[in-house]
Formats: sequence, C-alpha cells, structure tokens
Amino acid sequence: MPELPEVEVTRRGIAPHLVGRAIAAVAVREPRLRWRIPASVRSLAGCVVRSVRRRGKYLLLDCGDGHLILHLGMSGSLRLVAPGTIPGKHDHFDLAVGNKILRLRDPRRFGAVLWTTEPPEAHALIRHLGVEPLSTAFNAGSLHALARAQRTSIKQFLMDGRRVVGVGNIYASESLFLAGIRPQTRAGRLSRARSAKLVDAVKSTLRAAIKAGGSSLRDFVGSDGAQGYFQQCAWVYDRAGQDCRRCGTPIRRVVQGQRATYYCPVCQR
Ligand SMILES: [Zn+2]
Repeated sequence: MPELPEVEVTRRGIAPHLVGRAIAAVAVREPRLRWRIPASVRSLAGCVVRSVRRRGKYLLLDCGDGHLILHLGMSGSLRLVAPGTIPGKHDHFDLAVGNKILRLRDPRRFGAVLWTTEPPEAHALIRHLGVEPLSTAFNAGSLHALARAQRTSIKQFLMDGRRVVGVGNIYASESLFLAGIRPQTRAGRLSRARSAKLVDAVKSTLRAAIKAGGSSLRDFVGSDGAQGYFQQCAWVYDRAGQDCRRCGTPIRRVVQGQRATYYCPVCQR
C-alpha cells in the first residue's frame, strides 16, 4: 500500500512537470474507483495547475477553479508517460499536461480522483486528518499535548490518522525502536523528553524513506521504493526472532489493534 513517503516521492516527482502548465485533456477510462470519478473533472481541460501539494496521503492539485484530490488507495501509482503511450488494463485516468500524460494505474480501484471547489482542507475526507508528521506543527510540545490522557498504546496512537497522519505500521515500529520506546506504552504516560525523541525518530524515519524512494524512482512511480529500503535496513519491522541489530536480543512480535508490532525488549522500555 502506498504510504506517506511514497506519496511525497510521487508529489516531488510529478510537481515539476505539472505546475504552471495547462491541462490539455482529461481521460476517464474507468470512473468506478473507491468513489465514482465525477463527470465535472472532464471540464478541467484548459485549466492551469498552480500547485501540487500533499495532505496526509492525498495529493491536491490546485487548478484555479478548484482542486483535484488524488489518492492512491491500496495499489495505485501515478506516472508520467509520453503522449501516445497505450494505456494498460488498470490505467483508469489520464491528465494530459504540457508534453506529458499523468496516468493513474490502480488495479484494485481503491484509489480516488475527486474534485472540489472549496478549500481542500474543508473536504470531508481531509478536514479530520491529524497533524502532518514532517511539519513544524509536529513537535515535542504538540505530541505531548495530543497524547495527554490518551489510554491507547503509543503505537496505536501514532497510527491513528486523526491524531498524526500518515505514520503507517512500518514507520511506527521503526520510529519507536529509534526512540527506545516500547510500543505498548500508554500514550498518555509519555514524558515530554520521550515525546521529543519520538518526534525526531518519526521525522528521520519518514525522511529516510522519502530519500530511498526518491533515489530508486523510475518514471516517478511511487511504488515500492520505501518498502525495498525497509526490507534491507529495518531495525525491527518483520524481524521477529532475529537478533536486534543494536544489542543482539531476539526481536519480539506482538499484535496491537490487529496489526503486527515488532520491538526489542531490551532497547525499548
Ligand atoms: Zn536491542
């Protein structure tokens, strides 16, 4: 599933080819994604893309009259292809911009292409999203305040998109290892000092994944760059029974909120 780093890598890959350029044509080959692609997107032809932003795992294309909201769902990817490139079976949506085509491939069709004429931050899918982990708004003070009185585990808290957006299972596990925090720790019991450590760990983990994804990109497909990186370098994720890379103790696996969590019982307290 595309995670925040892959969406950010996609954003950085496509933005230079879209911003300041006019949309020449729109093609909808299969409107039945997670939600039906609205017919109104066809009238985007002629609009100039002003910016390509990201909020959580949503990409927001400012088209002047409104915003195109894109989500990659479970299996989606965006790539830039040359005009005339024959679409594959799962290539459901095209935006012809400048001398390129931005093409959405989504085999499982859980992705989304939506249109809003309101500020995208007010959209029903976006307004409840939590703090952006790579923004300055995510800091020791804000995390400590958000987590205060929360009875849930810090792992589940981190993965709750209404609190902090886009920290998936891999990134939560890896960040908690880097911060030396046991995943079962109650969120409300996290000290300010440990909140600061966790903030640094989350940011550095996500940045490393973005960097790895960016360097392994071809055609700006945010597919599995981050995943490849973590398969090779993960501290704890998916390493149950293997030796901790720091202290040699076997990594443990537990299930929290129906998701697997991996941690070192010595390094994480
Ligand atoms: Zn260890």
